[in-house]
Order: sequence, then structure tokens, then C-alpha cells
Amino acid sequence: MDLIVKNGTIVTASDSYVADIGIKDSKVQTIGNLTPDNGSRIIDASEKFVLPGFIDAHVHLSLPFSGTISADSFETGTRAAAAGGVTTVVDFAIQAKGSSLKDAIKSRKAEADGEVFVDYSLHGGITDWNASTRQEISEIIKDGISSFKMFMIYKSEGWLTTDPVLIDALEVTKKLGGMIQVHAESVDLLDSLIAKHHTQEEMEKHGAWLHVITRPNIIEAEAIQRAITWAEYTGGHLFIVHMSTGEGADLVKAARARGVNVIAETGPQYLILNEDVFKGDNGHYFATCPQIKSEADGQRLWAGLRDGSVQTIGTDTCTFNTEQKNMWNGDFTKIPFGLPGTELMMPLLYNDGVRTGKISLNKMVELGSTNPAKVFGMYPQKGSLNIGADADLVVFDPEINLTVDYRKMETNCDWSPFQDKQLQGYPYLTIVRGKVVGKEGKCVGEKGYGKFVKRGFSGNFL
Ligand SMILES: [Zn+2]
Repeated sequence: MDLIVKNGTIVTASDSYVADIGIKDSKVQTIGNLTPDNGSRIIDASEKFVLPGFIDAHVHLSLPFSGTISADSFETGTRAAAAGGVTTVVDFAIQAKGSSLKDAIKSRKAEADGEVFVDYSLHGGITDWNASTRQEISEIIKDGISSFKMFMIYKSEGWLTTDPVLIDALEVTKKLGGMIQVHAESVDLLDSLIAKHHTQEEMEKHGAWLHVITRPNIIEAEAIQRAITWAEYTGGHLFIVHMSTGEGADLVKAARARGVNVIAETGPQYLILNEDVFKGDNGHYFATCPQIKSEADGQRLWAGLRDGSVQTIGTDTCTFNTEQKNMWNGDFTKIPFGLPGTELMMPLLYNDGVRTGKISLNKMVELGSTNPAKVFGMYPQKGSLNIGADADLVVFDPEINLTVDYRKMETNCDWSPFQDKQLQGYPYLTIVRGKVVGKEGKCVGEKGYGKFVKRGFSGNFL
């Protein structure tokens, strides 16, 4: 054995028990009461939990957006992952209009390879659905990318999809073992509300609160309803990214009860923060898309996580620092949308979910690791501690107390949405394929160690 993690409480999506994990050649080799042989390294995990590493299946590293580039790169974003117990991240390769999706994937891979500290994969981002894109999909899925994001907003960015395109893409990917992810917001209503409120007078009066005024819950609910309708019509596999509303949770729950193939993701920002963040002096820092909703929405999303109507957690990490955020100059339409997220994904879910009794520790593992692995075709190589799985694991110390401080974190951000929040419980060690890459909140890995994860089919495999 190369490494033995001894005496920890192993926690999977379904079980908790005390045992040792033996790792050989980067895989989980055996679990039991193990006697170390000569040369095996021992990690003492007594009084700690041993979990499969988290998968943050929603990150945007170095994303050109809003006239700037998101501040966490593949390097710093995956340093943050290593520090925070996230062993795989999934970014997006967004097609440029008039170019092939394959080219976007090729260049995104070139950006990531050699830079990443943890494993990574990519979703395709479809912005130009035409005969050749349609043609490419089957080969792209064979090459290990089986999920494709489409945008129901972002007209001026050139990313907007239309209903017939969404329907066709659901049909095509269904036959090939792929899934369509949608950013569900209702573009026409949204753009009309923005146009209505985008006046000097209102901007002076409401500031960043206009982000809330222009995005009532119906914006998300209408788009989710419509996407579900098309998934029901086609039988395609649909994934709702960053779901932020209680209405969304109700719609997904009802659709799943009818047998529609739909999966929904939410994130810590929607569960833990509420729209009051936009009222402060630096309210614009918190602008993300969709925006953070009310306390009641957060509670409904927690309930959805508990009852299975919301199935995964992803952070939608898209970091912008204060200088970038301040480019808004009082105009809510010019705020770079996005928040840092990956590094605190696991500790926030533990602190605000498990410790408060909202979800069990097993549920936390299911939401942050096992379900994203299953849905995106990485299970059981990732998202499990099965014999033969990649030895991606986290030794989690439930007794660590700390105060969130961006200055001590790995993310390349000079503020934190959770600054000064008290947390109990934090990853002590993060291990990717048998190698320690994170220790006590710091990245101790090696740049370029992370590998591209070739995925199988994506879909409603829960
Ligand atoms: Zn996103």
C-alpha cells in the first residue's frame, strides 16, 4: 500500500463507519482494518471524517465576461479547490459564434492542462447550433464531454438560445447519451424590466437593489417551466444550473413526479445568503446571475435538497475582485456578475447544513460528490470510495473553528461574500488520486498534477 488513511469515520452517500482506507497506485485498493506494510505512509484520521472529494461541477475560471476576465484562473481556482476539499472541478468551453464547439474545447483544455492542481473536466457551451454543431456532438460525447450548457438569456453577449434550438438539442443529445444544462431566466421579460428601470433617477435611488427589482422570481420560474416542457415533450435529459428560487424547486419536484428527466443544482449563495446583501454599501459585490433571492427561497431550496427535488450542489464560481466589481459606477447593468465559491463549498454545507440539522452528513456527500459524479458520467471513478475508484478523498475535521477571511484563502479575490463568518468544521487534508494536494486550508499540491476527466454518459441517473 502506498498510503493508509487510518481510523477515520468513513462517510459515503449511504453509510458511515470507522475503518482504514488503503491506497495503491492512486486508487482505493482496500477498506478494512489494515496493517501497514513497510514503506506505506500513514495518515491518522481518528476523530475525523473521511469523505469522497467534492466535485464542483460549475466553475468559470478565467472567463471573459462583462468586459473583463474572471479573476480566478485555472491555477488559482484549483488551488482554492485543493484547499477546500474539492477534488474535481468542471468548467465550460463556450463556443464562439461561427466557430466549432470542438475548437472551443480544444483551446479550453490547452488553458487548463499544466495549470490545474486538481482534476477537471469540461461541459460544452453551445451558442451556435447549426448542422455542423449537431454533427460534432456525437464525437464530443465519445471524447468524454457529455453535458452541454445553453443559455436562455444573454442576448447581447450572443449566447442566447431559442426554444426550437433547445428542443432540437434535447432530442439530439438524448439519443447520444448527453444532457442539456440550461441557465433558465426569461429573456424577454428580463430585458423589458431592465429597460424600464434603467434610468438615472432609479439608479440613484436604488443602486444595486435594481438587480433584485428587475429579476422577480417569475423570471427564473417561467424559464424553468418552459425548459421542463421541452424536456417532457422530447424525453431529453435536462439539467437546471444554479437554481435560485422556491418556485424552481416546486416545478422540478412536480416534473420529476411525472417522470420528466430533469435534475437541478443550487449553490451555497442561494442557501445561506439572502437578498439583503444588495442593500449594503457594497451590495454590488454580491451581484450574480441569477441573483440571490429571499430567505424563504433559501429555506425552500434546503427542503428540496432534503426531499430529493434538488439533487446537486455547484458553486457557479465566477470570481470578480473589488476593482472589477467597481467598474459598475452605479449602473446595475454593468456589474460583472459572479462570486467566488469553490473553496468554501464544503465547509459552508457542513456548517450551515449538517451542523444545523438541515441535512445529514451522508446527504452532504451525496449532494456535493456522489450525485454530480453520477449525473455527469464520472461515477464510480469519482464521487465514491468504492474499491478501484480514484483515491480522491477528504479528511474533514469537524472540530476546527475558523473565521472566514479572504486574506487567508487561496482564491484570487480581495473580498469574500462570507467575510467574518464563523465556521466550525473544515477540510484537514484533500487527496487527489492518492496525493495530498490540500492541507489545513492551504494548497500543497503541484501545478499541472490535475488531469482531464473523460466522462461517460450524462443524464438522470439518480
Ligand atoms: Zn455559470
